[in-house]
Amino acid sequence: MNEATTFEQGPIRPPNEAGSLLIRVSRNCPWNRCLFCPIYKFDRFSRRSTEEIKEDIDLMARYVDEVKELAGQNNKEGDINQNTLAYFYNQKPDLFPIAHWLYHGEQSVFLQDADNIIYKGDKLAEIVRYIKEKIPGVSRITTYARVKSLAKRSVEELQEVKEAGLSRVHVGLESGSDQVLEFMQKGVTAAEQIEAGQKVIDAGLILSEYVILGLGGRDYWQEHAAETARVLNAINPHYIRLRTLAIHPAAPLAEEWKNGTFEPLSDEEILKEERLLLEQLEGIHSALYSDHILNLLEEVQGKLPDSKKFMLQVIDNYFNLKEKERNLFRLGRRAGLLRNLSELNNIPRRGRVEGIYKDLQKKGLTVDQFIEDIRTKYL
Ligand code: SF4
Repeated sequence: MNEATTFEQGPIRPPNEAGSLLIRVSRNCPWNRCLFCPIYKFDRFSRRSTEEIKEDIDLMARYVDEVKELAGQNNKEGDINQNTLAYFYNQKPDLFPIAHWLYHGEQSVFLQDADNIIYKGDKLAEIVRYIKEKIPGVSRITTYARVKSLAKRSVEELQEVKEAGLSRVHVGLESGSDQVLEFMQKGVTAAEQIEAGQKVIDAGLILSEYVILGLGGRDYWQEHAAETARVLNAINPHYIRLRTLAIHPAAPLAEEWKNGTFEPLSDEEILKEERLLLEQLEGIHSALYSDHILNLLEEVQGKLPDSKKFMLQVIDNYFNLKEKERNLFRLGRRAGLLRNLSELNNIPRRGRVEGIYKDLQKKGLTVDQFIEDIRTKYL
C-alpha cells in the first residue's frame, strides 16, 4: 500500500491560532444553519475515523523530521527562518504547514473544524493522546466546540479529554440574547450557553468565548449588548474575544439584509453597542481581546475588572475626536495603515491615509462605501 503524502486541512482557525498546527478531526459544521456564517454553507459535515486522523498525525510527524532535515541543508543552523519558509512555500508546498508551525515555535495544535466535542470523550481523548505521543513538545491543544455538543457531554467526559491533553475550547457564543440567537438560527439558547460554559470551566479547561459585535442589528442592539453581558457574567470565561459582524454575500443574512428584515449597524453604532456591553460586564475576571481585523478599536483589550475603565476610555477617546479625524481613523484602520488612535499622529502613515481619503473624494465615494466593500472581504 502506498503511503499517504498529504494530510487534510480545514478552511479556518481562530485568529490567535495563526501559528498552530492544524489537524482536521471532523469536516465542516454539523449545524451549518447560522444566518451570519458563510463558511461551510456549500459543504456537508462528516466525521473522520480515528484511523484516518491518526494517519494524518503520523504523516505530520514524519514531515516534521523531513522539514528539519531540509532546513539543515538550507542553512548551517537548521533554523526555520523567513528564507526557509519561502523555500517551502514555493518548492515544497505539502511541507509548508509544518515548516510554518516549526517557525512559530512548534507548541500549539488546533483541532479543526467547527465542532469536535461532537465526538464522545473517549474518542477525542484518544486522538489528543496520540498527538502528544507522536508530536512531542506540543504544549497546547485547542478546539472549537458547539454549545449543543458541550451540553451533551458530562463534566467527567470533558475532564477525560482535558487529562489527555486538550487545553482550551473556543466557543462561538455570538450573542447572549435569545431573540438574537433565534433570529440568527444559532440553534442554542442563552441558558444553554451558560450551562455549557460553566461545564467547560468545571472540567478545568480554558474557555474562550467569541462575541459578534453588531449581531443584534438596529432592532436588537441594546438587547444584544445587555444579554451578552449577562451571559458572560454568569460564565466568567477565561477569555472574551470580540469580532465585528461582516455580512458576506454567501451568508443567508445577506438575503435578510436585502429584504429589510435585518438592518446592520454602522461602525460607530457598533462602538456604542460595544461600550454598552463593556459597561455591563461585572464581577468577572476574563481577559478581553479585540484581536480581529474587523474590529475598529483593536486597543480595546485588557483584563477585567481592572482594565474596564481603560477600555471604556478608548471608546470615549474615539468619540471625542472631530468627525474628519474619526473618518480618517476608520479609513486607516480598514486600509491596514492604522492600528490604534495614537497612530493618527504618525505623520507618514497619516499622510498615506489622507492620500486615500482624497482619492475617494475625487471618485465621489464615501468612507462608508469603501469600508463596506472591505468588510465583506473578511470573515
Ligand atoms: S457559526 Fe459555527 S455553528 Fe454556526 S454555522 Fe458557522 S460554523 Fe456552524
